[in-house]
Amino acid sequence: MNTRPIMLFLVLVVAANSAPAVAEGPVWQPLTGGMAWTAPVDFVAHGARCGQRAPHEFPEVLPDAVPSDCTLGATSILPEYEPGDVLVIPVVVHVITSGSGTGNLSDAVIESQIDVLNEDYLALPGTPGALGTDAAIRFELATTDPAGLPTTGITRTANDTWWNDSDEYGFKTTLGWDQNRYLNLYTNNTPYLGYSWFPQWGIGWEDGVVINYQAFGRTSIPWPYNLGRTATHEIGHYLGLLHPFEGGCGIATSPGCYTSADLICDTNPDATETYGCPATTSCGGYAVPVENYMEYTDDACMELFSAEQANRMRCSLINYRPNLYTISSSGEIFSNDFEAGNLDAWSVVSP
Ligand SMILES: [Zn+2]
Repeated sequence: MNTRPIMLFLVLVVAANSAPAVAEGPVWQPLTGGMAWTAPVDFVAHGARCGQRAPHEFPEVLPDAVPSDCTLGATSILPEYEPGDVLVIPVVVHVITSGSGTGNLSDAVIESQIDVLNEDYLALPGTPGALGTDAAIRFELATTDPAGLPTTGITRTANDTWWNDSDEYGFKTTLGWDQNRYLNLYTNNTPYLGYSWFPQWGIGWEDGVVINYQAFGRTSIPWPYNLGRTATHEIGHYLGLLHPFEGGCGIATSPGCYTSADLICDTNPDATETYGCPATTSCGGYAVPVENYMEYTDDACMELFSAEQANRMRCSLINYRPNLYTISSSGEIFSNDFEAGNLDAWSVVSP
């Protein structure tokens, strides 16, 4: 696709919308041994819980298989997208620090974030993610870089300009690895907890997930976002999920619930974002889905994707990110033959 107009548009939009959150600071306060948001309420005040743009803010790009079963306007829940073989996504974590080194996350924190993702996307028994739907999606730090060389799946860059960047200054274009083949996770001091990119917008330099370094991984930072669920949430967007409150209540029953609000039917109608972890109702008595990873609630409150969210994520992965994942089935790993540009050419690459 021609990305030039989109790039320009993105720069303008980001500059216009994110500048106040930075300019009104300092909302981030330095503390010994790290940084911390002054209070969780700051995120509410600044609208910065999630910086994901609205679904229709950018043009939608249809995949090869048209019509898609998971556009930004509708979802078709189909058996072929039900969780089965595990889809494995290689991850590269780009740690961006300030020039003086603030934000230099340890390998242990990064590994804890990968652990949390797998607990949540695989609903691993005995973990905080156990109550959710097993989406059969697994995340692994990349072991091979774009040049084919061995890698830890972690890069580290000190850059004062990129440290507070929300896409204005090009860290993605410089640091990003082939977005078709890697999930690029970036950490810096973005004024949001995190923001992401819907695959339905097309795969280019904009693609990837940015997480504020203090909300990345399982940490001891004393605030409600220290259990790694910000990445669980933002990667939900990366795999095509909308907020339960997207566009308001929408239509409660099928088939209208597949074309309104979050485009699926097994998350309750929800008028607006919810913070904390209240037991409350919305849209005429429906329980607010505070336990859903795609809400705005505290990390400890979030504990599940619904079955239809899992179906839509796998639909998005298969249709919009066909070269991103390998398939783990019966002890073998199958890889898509992206080199040949053949989206249907799966071959065994290991063991
Ligand atoms: Zn979000």
